[in-house]
Amino acid sequence: MRLKDKVAIVTGSARGLGKGIAIKLAEEGAKVVIADMAGAEETAKEISDNGGTATAFQVNVAKQDEVQALVKYAIDTYGTLDIMVNNAGINRDGMLHKMPVENWDTVIAVDLTGTFYGTQEAIKYMRQKGYGRVINISSGSWLGNIGQANYAAAKAGVVGLTKTAARENARKGITCNAICPGFIETDMTLKLKEVNDGAAWNSMMQRIPMGYAGKPSDVGNMVAFLASDEAAYITSEVINVGGGMIV
Ligand code: NAD
Repeated sequence: MRLKDKVAIVTGSARGLGKGIAIKLAEEGAKVVIADMAGAEETAKEISDNGGTATAFQVNVAKQDEVQALVKYAIDTYGTLDIMVNNAGINRDGMLHKMPVENWDTVIAVDLTGTFYGTQEAIKYMRQKGYGRVINISSGSWLGNIGQANYAAAKAGVVGLTKTAARENARKGITCNAICPGFIETDMTLKLKEVNDGAAWNSMMQRIPMGYAGKPSDVGNMVAFLASDEAAYITSEVINVGGGMIV
């Protein structure tokens, strides 16, 4: 129970990696706001049914007023905000020379600008409080990946945003770190199983030194650590959770 009575928001937590993160934070004693465009109630109920404390909030992180309402909701509901996990993200993959500008704009709006809104709004409150943990979910793709110009640019932007937020707020009791998952089994990645009769999935497994995809709980464990008192002196870091895949 390293996070007993801490209050957390996890965006994009109705399913996938965000859900794994929310479950872990709740297991560690945090009260969690499940924030998503759809399906948040089911995840909040699942956590509550298992003895945790969670509530749902519908949000599109690409809309600033909705993110502001989300942070206000957490504070109004649980009295404070300690942990902000900006996890919501999408991809619209395709080669750069064929990429429609809409696919660029949409991914930047959700993955980068959405993370900016969440980080900014949480930090405004955390600076007054003199305490906070911001954990942004980037990706190993920030280093560049074929077919992901929009996603890689957004995720590299998340790294720059996080490192700047860390430096600006280091004397305010706030830590900001980014996690780069490698290849984690979620709806976003399971799509690959349908490409070329599973050949695309199998070739991805070859690229992972450990030889298998990670689980949402693998990322959840790192988020719980970064949110805990044990990680008080860790800020501005970019931490890979990728089975050795990210170099
Ligand atoms: P997913 O598609 O399984 O789940 C994403 C969740 O985010 C969904 O519940 C979806 O409804 C929500 N969401 C999407 N757009 C939103 C918006 N505008 N506002 C609010 N919620 C929104 O994806 P995932 O694999 O769980 O990915 C979660 C995060 O982890 C993303 O930021 C992704 O880029 C990152 N990531 C994933 C992997 C991986 O291997 N799965 C690897 C690296 C990084």
